[in-house]
Amino acid sequence: MSGKISGYDVEMIAKAVIETIIEQAGVGENSPKKQSGVWENVEGSRFDGGYMVPVGVSARHVHLTQEHVDVLFGKDYQLTLKNKLMGGQYAAKETVTIVGLKLRAIENVRILGPVRRCSQVEISATDAVKLGVKAPVRESGDVAGSAAIALVGPQGAIYLEEGLIIAKRHIHMSPADAASTGVSDGDRVAVATERERATVLHNVQIRVDDSFTLEMHIDTDEANAAGIATGDCVTLIR
Ligand SMILES: [Zn+2]
Repeated sequence: MSGKISGYDVEMIAKAVIETIIEQAGVGENSPKKQSGVWENVEGSRFDGGYMVPVGVSARHVHLTQEHVDVLFGKDYQLTLKNKLMGGQYAAKETVTIVGLKLRAIENVRILGPVRRCSQVEISATDAVKLGVKAPVRESGDVAGSAAIALVGPQGAIYLEEGLIIAKRHIHMSPADAASTGVSDGDRVAVATERERATVLHNVQIRVDDSFTLEMHIDTDEANAAGIATGDCVTLIR
């Protein structure tokens, strides 16, 4: 066989590539339809014997004190709003680079505002491997004895002796949701996911507060393992 590609082959290859792109974008006639309507129909309602909870997938992110914002971005710098999140939090336009002890880095890590009393970096287990660090699975805010990490911004850098964690999966809910599901703040429940990679996730922490709307927060590793995305629903099975 000659190494040359004929005009016909080029056309066939191009067609195959285009078909693949269309399939992946979910716009092809035969591609599976996006499950629209799932969210609004079942959110917070009993369905098939379980309580449906919408999923929010958290990518790696950073919480900072104002003092650390000053070091990274300049004195009295104010984070700017990119988009609003639940409970008065927001994704800021600003990002930082995080660097592990082996000098391996991840760039463009989103900052979540507003500023907090303690700086904290939340990554996935895959990120920890990439950074060459061992980070514990913890609830947000529980950083005592967690892993070290350096943060680099446009105006400076900080080194956190502790503050790097893999966030423990959790469900935010209002007191009304807690009452109707029969769970309390601090409980741990199991949830079931559907789709091709159907999975049961155990040890999902319940967090109840007036400012919360019903949502399960998992990281990108957990979402990918279960084949689910932001906007999908899981069933609380206790
Ligand atoms: Zn959360």
